[in-house]
Amino acid sequence: MTARLIDGLALSREIRADLGRRAEALAAAGCRPGLAVILVGDDPASAVYVRNKVKACAEHGLHSVLEKYPATLAEAELLARIAALNADAAIHGILVQMPLPRHIDPAKVIAAIDTAKDVDGYSVRSAGELTSGLPGLRPCTPLGCMRLIESTGIAIRGRHAVVVGRSNTVGKPMALLLLQADATVTVCHSRTPDLAVHTRMADIVVVAVGRRHTLTAAMVKAGAVVVDVGMNRNDEGKLCGDVDLAAVREALGPAGWITPVPGGVGPMTITMLLGNTVDAAGAAANRQAGA
Ligand code: NAP
Repeated sequence: MTARLIDGLALSREIRADLGRRAEALAAAGCRPGLAVILVGDDPASAVYVRNKVKACAEHGLHSVLEKYPATLAEAELLARIAALNADAAIHGILVQMPLPRHIDPAKVIAAIDTAKDVDGYSVRSAGELTSGLPGLRPCTPLGCMRLIESTGIAIRGRHAVVVGRSNTVGKPMALLLLQADATVTVCHSRTPDLAVHTRMADIVVVAVGRRHTLTAAMVKAGAVVVDVGMNRNDEGKLCGDVDLAAVREALGPAGWITPVPGGVGPMTITMLLGNTVDAAGAAANRQAGA
């Protein structure tokens, strides 16, 4: 018997249905959640990502605006657009699709977004809120991973969680969210001498590296929960994760859980973006009501 799959598509559908209802309730109260997505340049992968985000908004009752600019857009012009969106009452979330052309400083751009509208949760202020345990918008991918882990019904409190990867957008916020949920957290990275020593002891493993077969069957303990964030292509050009899915699933045994790629973390990331936008709209409506 192999580990159970954590179905990110099914969980996404469930959460999105609820978000759709919340969006309609906010719209009925005069505050339809609105997301602005900015795309600079003509990177084909980025174009697909933004199209999916805008489509998901339309399907769930959120207002969305897609602003496309040529790669020659000046940094000052982009900052001016963000300032205008910060002031736009119909927009509750602002997302600037990365990567940006080289002449634009992403840190400056992210810092220009009003923290209350930072639905990607990438800004230094949002990261500070997460680190300090203050309320705020959390990065979508780690938040989606938390929902996937919670959906298994296992208690996170007191468990040993190992996060492989320490990027600002995935690994670090993931570790902080697990810590906030009272897990004992180990963070591994490219300078960790023996990854398996850590992952073999883990009750929960989240892998966010970007390299196929980073986690293999010999590196897990039976009954653990494995979340695969990686997005890679195999030799046939098919989408695959960082985990050797079939072999690790076998090694985890029937008490274990694992997310597939595709159909695991991927759909949850956009779902959490919708969730953050709805939350941001709810917070804006509350501020307005209190004003
Ligand atoms: P990243 O910024 O490149 O970070 C990769 C991390 O992996 C780094 O911290 C690096 O360590 C660590 N690493 C590299 N080789 C390692 C090794 N051999 N052993 C242990 N750690 C190692 O990538 P990212 O943005 O976090 O994304 C990671 C993966 O998730 C990518 O495949 C990306 O496409 C995917 N992703 C998926 C979604 C989704 O929605 N499904 C969203 C975001 C990202 P150092 O810090 O020491 O260099």
